[in-house]
Amino acid sequence: MTPAGGARLFANAWVVTMDDAGAEHLSGWVHVEDGLVVATGSGAEPAVAERVDLHGAVVTPGLVNTHHHLYQTLTRARAQQADLFTWLRELYPVWSRIDAEAEYAAARTGLAELALSGCSTVFDHHYVFPRGRQGLIEAEVQAARELGVRIVASRGSMDLGVSAGGLPPDDLVEDIDAVLAETERLAAALHEPGAGARVQLAVAPCSPFSVTGRLMEESAALARRLGLPLHTHLAETLEEENYCVELYGCRPVEYLERLGWLADDVWCAHCVHLSDDDIARFASSGTGVAHCPTSNLRLGAGVAPVRAMLDAGVRVGLGVDGSASNERGDLFLEVKQALLVARGRGGGAAMTARDAIRLATRGGASVLRRDDIGSLEPGKCADLAVWRTDGLELGGADDPVAGIVFAGPHRVDRLVVGGVDVVREGALANADEREIAQAHRAQARRFSL
Ligand SMILES: [Zn+2]
Repeated sequence: MTPAGGARLFANAWVVTMDDAGAEHLSGWVHVEDGLVVATGSGAEPAVAERVDLHGAVVTPGLVNTHHHLYQTLTRARAQQADLFTWLRELYPVWSRIDAEAEYAAARTGLAELALSGCSTVFDHHYVFPRGRQGLIEAEVQAARELGVRIVASRGSMDLGVSAGGLPPDDLVEDIDAVLAETERLAAALHEPGAGARVQLAVAPCSPFSVTGRLMEESAALARRLGLPLHTHLAETLEEENYCVELYGCRPVEYLERLGWLADDVWCAHCVHLSDDDIARFASSGTGVAHCPTSNLRLGAGVAPVRAMLDAGVRVGLGVDGSASNERGDLFLEVKQALLVARGRGGGAAMTARDAIRLATRGGASVLRRDDIGSLEPGKCADLAVWRTDGLELGGADDPVAGIVFAGPHRVDRLVVGGVDVVREGALANADEREIAQAHRAQARRFSL
């Protein structure tokens, strides 16, 4: 493994920096040292100890995933025709079998898939904590450390069971005080503040139909006291909207506002059913969005109004969402999918290929409140993805940057995180992909019907 301190020049590439000006360097190079980007450019190369020739590949910043449920790799292809609520009701009892051993296998699989799709930073929303099961968050953090990707884990929660009008079964909801105490313990044990963090923690009560207003408010107070970001699901389906109107007397965004959750330390997954007024509230409050187009299509939830959000100035990133509602944990597929659904909704000019890459890089970093990742600029983390351009699917593409999006997804050729190789020549650098798949199948059998 190349140490983070090793100086390397990634040369002979089309470098997409994703800086504010959208600078790209043809015949370009990226100079990295001490885990950081020193400079990017084209033409005359600086003298650096190790020169890596990329043979005309495209280099982008490492992608940033803003919504996931890694444990769901254990339960793919279930409830195949179901809408969200039906799907959840079928899966909650299956998910209640989760333990640290299964979570570790699931996280290794999900994180390996994401790394091989060019993703260097992963947010995971874990909210299923069966009574007595310990070490679930620690298991996924261990998997991320072993593979070499950055993780923003979260202590999710559910406290509104079916007997109190919620969706999850009563035996899967928790006590508020236990949730808050466990969140504080995990924050002290795992969260790294500041630039270059490899492990962070967010506070993430699950959704309006599985969490009480009191837990939402107390979670926000705790997160703000500890300086942690806040996350939840919102406005995913029309059924959720009807549920909120019935139970809380208002639509989801208004409900969130009442709870003090429209703020710049919050991002919400999905946001499919936002009105123009809702979008304006997100923009003025700085609330971010994790756009998960494949999952939304898979569950028939709809298509989020991302063009309108971007025009209003809302921070938007991309997410694969859990592998039970998007069986492919490939973030580059979401780049292409975001472009396609935006055009399906708003016409051919609704999103460019570079806009779509920007969502998955700068957009994701902004949503996670990280200014140290998401672009290739001096002083930022040396997180970069290398995409080959010499395969069958890119022949004839004069613009290889648009070409990789339109022809995606692709297995990344190389992924570098903090200056260290995580993927090399299309294979995991720190783990055996076949062994991960085999260990995962052994655990997944425990979740069979
Ligand atoms: Zn989700």
